[in-house]
Amino acid sequence: MDAQGASAPFRGFAETLHGVAQTARKLEKADLLARYFHTLDDDDLRTAATFLTGAAFPAGDPRQLHVGWSALVEVIQELSGKDDAWLHDAYLRHGDLGDVAAEAFVSGHAARPGPETPLTLRRVREAFETMAAASGKGSRGAKAAVLRDLFVAATPLEAKYLVRIITTDLRVGLKAGLLEEAIAAAFAPAGAGGKSSRRALLPPVRQANMLISQIGEVAVLARAGRLAEARLILFRPFHFMLAETIFAPEEAFVPLRGGEEGSAAALLVEDKYDGIRAQVHLADGRLAIYSRTLDDITASFPDLHEDLRALGTRYIIDGEILAWRGEQALAFSLLQQRLRRKDPGRLLDQIPVTLMAFDLLHLDGEELLARPLRERRDRLERLTFRGRVRPSLATIAAAPADLARRFRDARHRGNEGLVAKRLDAAYQPGRRGRQWMKLKEELATLDVVVVAAEHGHGRRAAVLSDVTFAVSDGERLATIGKAYSGLTDREIAEMTRWFQEHTVRDLGRVKMVQPAVVLEVAFDAVMVSDRHDSGFALRFPRIKRWRADKSAAEINTLDDARRIYERQIVRPRADEATPIGAGGGT
Ligand code: AMP
Repeated sequence: MDAQGASAPFRGFAETLHGVAQTARKLEKADLLARYFHTLDDDDLRTAATFLTGAAFPAGDPRQLHVGWSALVEVIQELSGKDDAWLHDAYLRHGDLGDVAAEAFVSGHAARPGPETPLTLRRVREAFETMAAASGKGSRGAKAAVLRDLFVAATPLEAKYLVRIITTDLRVGLKAGLLEEAIAAAFAPAGAGGKSSRRALLPPVRQANMLISQIGEVAVLARAGRLAEARLILFRPFHFMLAETIFAPEEAFVPLRGGEEGSAAALLVEDKYDGIRAQVHLADGRLAIYSRTLDDITASFPDLHEDLRALGTRYIIDGEILAWRGEQALAFSLLQQRLRRKDPGRLLDQIPVTLMAFDLLHLDGEELLARPLRERRDRLERLTFRGRVRPSLATIAAAPADLARRFRDARHRGNEGLVAKRLDAAYQPGRRGRQWMKLKEELATLDVVVVAAEHGHGRRAAVLSDVTFAVSDGERLATIGKAYSGLTDREIAEMTRWFQEHTVRDLGRVKMVQPAVVLEVAFDAVMVSDRHDSGFALRFPRIKRWRADKSAAEINTLDDARRIYERQIVRPRADEATPIGAGGGT
């Protein structure tokens, strides 16, 4: 269909999502989406599929909305006439700003004129583009004006999903895999035998999405029967393959769950370097380095450019950038100092870096993602490494004892732990599974999200240094501990500012905050406890690091905490715990 034709109403999108949220059955969710996709032209299909990922823009698109929680709340209040007390109360009831917006607009006063011209998918997309383009002085006002326009035209249900896209969390139980299933269901050739043909279309849909990481484009290609044309595109970064946490060497050799590829007979084992992940693209003389958040960080690392150019002529590699001197990794905090600067200037000499390459995904026009790691590694090692770019140290482990030994060596070298990878597995962008497993310290750390913050004591009385944090449990968050800062004063100050701007309920000393700050916490044990919703508490939790590179969608689960608990040989009783709030942290 012609891209300039009438765009479909946003109402259809909101109603479809409402339907998806109503059912827990995956097949029903996929069917609802499939039926909806059929009603859209290509332009709308791209937009709707992107929004269904819970984002305003396709993955890897550098544009960002940068609309804060407080800006949203202000517009909702202005249009609905609801006061702070109502808002706090509603947030407590719903635990979700989208639901709060919907309720505010159902019962709000006449300051909101009500829908005149209905919203369309294109209008929403264009509004997001305008917001992303606003920058500098006055941008806050400009964005607020666009938000106001959108919400004035939105029904309460539409407002709910607008808020959820803007805050990048749809909360309807829709994972990327399900979206791929819905596309396969929607565009499987008609008459070719229903279920089996949609099953047949799923692998090419997944493959295409893996290559171009833009689900909207994949949907359009699927409908046109052109999935085979999907190619990895140089200089369009895609998501990194991730590792699942394991807590003991034996876990690495446990047979895989159904449906997962890869045998564990032998594993490729590498040190787990404590740096930042990097995807390097080189072609036609152009070089780009992308971060885990798919940001372009090429300019931060001029000291790597020459050696990266020498490596080959046309490639994509995956690796880790480390602060490094001689043969030794330097502290992560030093690397962070370099990252904070757009122009690293004199820090180039003070904090040298190296790039440890561990995967090769494209070489001279050939895509290697679907090839087994064994082959990718082989070809990686044949590149012309020199200077500051080197291949990661990789060895083979055939039994838990090999891993345990290797773990001690890695720790001895000052690295965080190990990453064990299945030799026959493909590279799966954005997936976290048992194809890659990470083993960190003797007792694992957990990535958690902060849900509340409070003022510290003494020197820390002015800052929000004490935090309560949660792990995920399906759609909900379950609190599991509280820690006193292990962060630097500078980080605490930065975090305090963020908490103040993202407070959803101010209880005086304690502020409930939008769950977005991810911390990596270390602890001595997991205990059963009724102090927190999770039913567990951490003994002596210590904040190891602020994981600004991670979103709340990537935190550890309650199941992970349970697995650590079950693995503990000596299980401390809850009553041995230091009372939370009385010096349990550092
Ligand atoms: P985590 O950040 O704790 O979820 O662990 C996954 C991260 O470990 C990846 O995103 C990489 O940045 C990092 N990493 C360090 N060394 C390796 C390695 N040898 N292979 C893969 N990932 C690694």
